[in-house]
Amino acid sequence: MFTHYDLHTHSRQSDGTLTPTALVERAAAAGVEVLALTDHDTLSGIGEARSAARAAGIRLIPGVEISVTWNRQTIHVVALNVDPEAPALRAGLERLQEFRVWRAEEIGRQLAKAGIEGATEGARRHAQGVLISRTHFAHYLVEIGRAKDLRAVFRKFLVRNKPGHVSGQWAGLEEAVGWIRAAGGQAVIAHPARYRLTGSKLRRLIAEFRDCGGEGLEVVSGSHSQQDMHNMASLARQCGLLASRGSDYHGPENAWIELGRLPALPADLTPVWQAWPQHAA
Ligand code: AMP
Ligand code: MN
Ligand code: MN
Ligand code: MN
Repeated sequence: MFTHYDLHTHSRQSDGTLTPTALVERAAAAGVEVLALTDHDTLSGIGEARSAARAAGIRLIPGVEISVTWNRQTIHVVALNVDPEAPALRAGLERLQEFRVWRAEEIGRQLAKAGIEGATEGARRHAQGVLISRTHFAHYLVEIGRAKDLRAVFRKFLVRNKPGHVSGQWAGLEEAVGWIRAAGGQAVIAHPARYRLTGSKLRRLIAEFRDCGGEGLEVVSGSHSQQDMHNMASLARQCGLLASRGSDYHGPENAWIELGRLPALPADLTPVWQAWPQHAA
C-alpha cells in the first residue's frame, strides 16, 4: 500500500505563511497522510499541528529544521520524530533563536548603510511576533518595492557580498545531530543539491554527518530538479543513507511548490520511515 509522506514543511511559526492548523488542513486535503512540521529552529507549532492532525485524521511527525554552520557554510538538518520536550534540543534551539534576534538587528543596520531604513521593524511586522528570518526581511523588501519577489530579493540582498548579508553562527554539525539523537529523532540532510557544494565537499559533509550519527538524505525535495533527485539518489545508495521526501512548502504564495505533488522515492532506496514504529506520535 502506498502512503503519502511529506516530511518537510513550514508554518508561520517560522517563515511559512499558514498557521499550523491551516497547513495541516491543506496537506490533508491534498492527500498527504503523514506530515512532518519542520519549522526553522523552533518547535513552537507542534502542539497546534498535533491537534489539527488529529482532527483531520492524518499523522503528524514532530520535527524541526536546524540551521547548522559547517565549513563556514549554512547547511540545514531536518530532525524527524523528536520529543519536543527534550531538554538539550530545546536549549540548543533557544540559542539559535537568540542568534536570530541579534542577527535581525544587524541585518537592519547593514541595510540602513545601503539606504534602506526601517527594515528590522518591517521584518518584525511580517514575523508577527514569532521567529524572525531572512524571509521576513525579503517580504519587507518586496513590500517597499526593492525587488519584485522573494527570489529577486535573494539575488540582490541578504546573501554574501550583497547589502544586508550577515554570516550565520548556527549550530555545529555534531552538536545539532547530538541534540536530535538525544531527543530520540532521526537526522536528515535537507535539500542537499541546493548548497552548491562540489561532489567531493558533499561527500565530506555526508561522511562527517554519518560519523556523528546522521541517518538520512532528502532525496526528493520541492527544491530539487529531476536531475538533482537522480544525483542525490545515487549518493544515498553509495553512502548507505536512508532517503527522505519533503516538499519544503512555505505557503500558497510560493506558487512553484504545492503540497501533495512530490514524486515518489526511487523504489530501491530505504525510506527514513522504515525504522519508525507504526503507531507512534
Ligand atoms: P534564514 O534561515 O533566516 O537565514 O532564512 C533562510 C530562508 O530564506 C530559507 O529557509 C528560505 O525559506 C528562504 N530563501 C533562501 N533563499 C531563497 C530564494 N532564493 N528564494 C526564496 N526564498 C529563499
Ligand atoms: Mn524557509
Ligand atoms: Mn532549508
Ligand atoms: Mn525548509
